Amino acid sequence: MRYQNTYVNLDTRLYHEQPPTPLDAPRAGHFNAQVAQQLGWTDNEDLMTNWVEILGGQYVPSDFKPLAMAYAGHQFGQWAGQLGDGRGLLMAQVLDSNGQPQDLHLKGAGLTPYSRMGDGRAVLRSTIREYLCGHALTQLDISSSNALGFVVSDTRVRRERIEAGAALMRVADSHIRLGHAEWIASFAPDLLGEFTDYMIDTYYPECRDSDAPIAAFLTSVVERTARMIADWQLIGFAHGVMNTDNLSITGSTLDFGPFGFMERFNPAWINNHSDHTGRYAYQNQPAIGHWNLNVWLPHFMRLQGISRETLSECLAPYESTFMQHYQQGLCRKLGLPHQSDSLSLAFEWLTLLEDNLLDYTNSFRALLGLVAPNDHPYEQKLLTTMTTELSLEAQQVWQDWSIRYLAQVEQLPIEQAINDMRTNNPVYVLRNSMAQRAITAAEQGQFEEVDRVYRLLANPYHIQEIATDLDTSAPAPNVPQMPISCSS
Ligand code: AMP
Ligand code: MG
Repeated sequence: MRYQNTYVNLDTRLYHEQPPTPLDAPRAGHFNAQVAQQLGWTDNEDLMTNWVEILGGQYVPSDFKPLAMAYAGHQFGQWAGQLGDGRGLLMAQVLDSNGQPQDLHLKGAGLTPYSRMGDGRAVLRSTIREYLCGHALTQLDISSSNALGFVVSDTRVRRERIEAGAALMRVADSHIRLGHAEWIASFAPDLLGEFTDYMIDTYYPECRDSDAPIAAFLTSVVERTARMIADWQLIGFAHGVMNTDNLSITGSTLDFGPFGFMERFNPAWINNHSDHTGRYAYQNQPAIGHWNLNVWLPHFMRLQGISRETLSECLAPYESTFMQHYQQGLCRKLGLPHQSDSLSLAFEWLTLLEDNLLDYTNSFRALLGLVAPNDHPYEQKLLTTMTTELSLEAQQVWQDWSIRYLAQVEQLPIEQAINDMRTNNPVYVLRNSMAQRAITAAEQGQFEEVDRVYRLLANPYHIQEIATDLDTSAPAPNVPQMPISCSS
């Protein structure tokens, strides 16, 4: 691996250097060979042989520089003060096979000075959810952290019940959160200039070519965040805990807790069982992204040449970037040209899904059964399932809509329309029930189901033999959803 441990050269107030606290008898859970390849992990025999011991915190290779980062944040809209890595450590920074920086971060690595009331551990259940979700989003081509692998152990961890302690080696292009600048502004304001330079040089070097590198950097963060959230909306992903300490400065999805992939379409859907007001409901995510950036940006006014007007200009592209990306993506999902009459059809379609509580993922894919009726029996089946779930009144709406829709599809060459639809409408997303089946088996020491779900999600746009009906069926309408709590 090409190590580039630069965080450890920053001012020591920003982190605490320490090794992980070993787990008892760590055992392999799953290993992501693709990520290992990308990192150059596979080229190193010591790392390959000892990956379980490394993830279990029992062995720290000499090139690693483990440390816990300090950061702060706004949680559920309130200033929460200092947070920091309470159960994770930045283990090493590397350049991957594309020359991109990647952080290796061990989640579940034991107590740190930032653990507050926590025990520093992660349980198997949430570790598997995070492992599979990072993989799912990455393979769906959505900017996200991923993981090298995870281990389970004999360490007992108390949550609502006693559970097995686990650890995940998370891989992300950065672990700097919006909350890092919030921490610096409150606890070490003299470091803001140096830290901003670090963020630009490490993650946004192209901004150095601008006449105003800081403003260019801030604008890029705004734009990348807007694009990430547009991707979430398009795929039907709800993060669940969009606190400022859980948003990365690179616009990569980070910190999976009570996330979910939408099943029956309901824009007001709240996946996080503990989010009583629905602050982080699916439909609120774009506005919350803006709220978070709006809290983050003013800290940079301390820097020379950054005025309130500059910051307004940096934030301004948020809405247009989001809209452009979202609307273009929606048109692609439908195989339509990106223009206003396509968008009105798209919004009528979403209303049909909402009014009839149809499955978001399957219904989009079912449209291929209409546009390319002879291509695949699976898509035909989805179309039949979808139409049989429509009310009598909705049947008429659907008939009328589908005629206008098919006429609009003809505006693009048919191969392009079909290709857009096949590459933007997954067959498989990580449904809560899928993750749960993998977890139940893993808690009995069986990891084959984790592996099967992993393989399914490795190719989410392709219909696969290893899938069963359980992987693609939505819960019955109006069934109370599986409670996903913050406890992890
Ligand atoms: P999260 O809700 O996972 O984003 O975590 C918010 C904050 O709580 C971060 O500072 C975490 O490091 C910390 N935290 C969460 N769970 C634990 C735990 N079991 N032990 C120590 N700190 C934790
Ligand atoms: Mg967090």
